[in-house]
Order: sequence, then structure tokens, then C-alpha cells
Amino acid sequence: MLNVIIFGAPGCGKGTQSALIIDKFKLKHFSTGEVLRKEIDNKTEIGVEADSYISRGQLVPDEMINKMVAQTVQSLNSTYNGIIFDGYPRTVKQAEELEKMMNEVGSSTHVLVELTVPDHELINRLLSRGLTSGRNDDNLEVISKRLEVYGAKTAPVIEFYKSLNKYVPIDGLGSIEEVNDRIVKAIDDLY
Ligand code: AMP
Repeated sequence: MLNVIIFGAPGCGKGTQSALIIDKFKLKHFSTGEVLRKEIDNKTEIGVEADSYISRGQLVPDEMINKMVAQTVQSLNSTYNGIIFDGYPRTVKQAEELEKMMNEVGSSTHVLVELTVPDHELINRLLSRGLTSGRNDDNLEVISKRLEVYGAKTAPVIEFYKSLNKYVPIDGLGSIEEVNDRIVKAIDDLY
């Protein structure tokens, strides 16, 4: 099994890089943000509630997220070698819950890869993504809020995984291929 957490501030490249490494390592890509956006598109009860947080740059409550994750962790089958968690955990509480859930299914997380990118570059990337993404949270006001929430609530997750000796920082600047090579090497180095 290989369970990877891809981590970093909004715009650091988590989604892009996850899509590249799932095939190489036969992982299931699990993006909590993507699941929530589908719920919003389908106008489900969860979607309507989630949208009220997402459109303001706030985090969706831990309980809502943890339920979605539990379903995914429990339904993983042998088609995959493991999961890549993209955009989760985003709070220390979620991290504690994730470790507990993995434990319950006889597994664990193996590494948290943080893609480090300076704030000004994150803002540029998100603004240019906003031109085509159709996402109502890719505009300057909400981006600023998301970065603030990242610093206050999400960044502390790094300390949690450092204490478990699972933390690997990766330079997130450069071409998509360059960053991908660094991630692949970091995962290969685990073994
Ligand atoms: P993302 O696609 O990962 O950028 O997520 C978009 C938005 O969905 C975030 O800004 C949050 O509002 C919400 N979201 C996604 N994942 C989580 C999570 N693990 N915990 C709380 N909120 C989340």
C-alpha cells in the first residue's frame, strides 16, 4: 500500500500533480474539493451547505468532510495500491481523524508531500486559473481569505506529520514535469 497526502496552499499544484502520479503508482485520486464541487453542481443538500463555506473561502466543517473520507477509505478495493489525498487533511483535527480511519482499516498514511510555493506566485496562478475555471472562489477577495485560512488552520498539519516523521517538503516552483520528477523521486526514496 502507498497512501500519499499531497499538501500545500491553494494554487500550489496539488490537483495537477496528483493527476500525474496516480497512474504511475496506481493510486486512487481523492480530492475533497472536487467531490464537494460535484455535490454543488448536483445541488444536493451537502452541496448547498458546502457552497456557503467555499464561496467565502472558509473551510467546510470537519464532520462533513470526515464522513466523505470514511466512505472512500472503507471502499478502497484492490484495483488500487492506495490513495492520494488531495486537499485533505486541512486541519489538525482532520489529520487525527484520518490516522484513526486508516488504522481502523489496517493501513496508514506513508508520506505528506508539501509543495512549497511563495504567496505572490500562488495568487498569480489562482487568478489566471480563475479566468477559465468557472470556480467562484478563484477571485482576489476569496483567494486572500483562502490563503489566510490556510496559514491559520491548515499549515499546522505540517507539524503533526513532522512529529510522525512523514513530512517531505518539495519545491513547487518550476515546470509541471520538473515538480513531478521531484515528487516521484521523493516517493521512490521511501522504499
Ligand atoms: P480545493 O479544491 O482543494 O481547493 O478546495 C476548495 C474548497 O473546498 C476549499 O477552499 C474549502 O472551502 C473546501 N474544502 C476542500 N477540502 C476541504 C477539507 N479537507 N476541509 C474543509 N474544507 C475543504
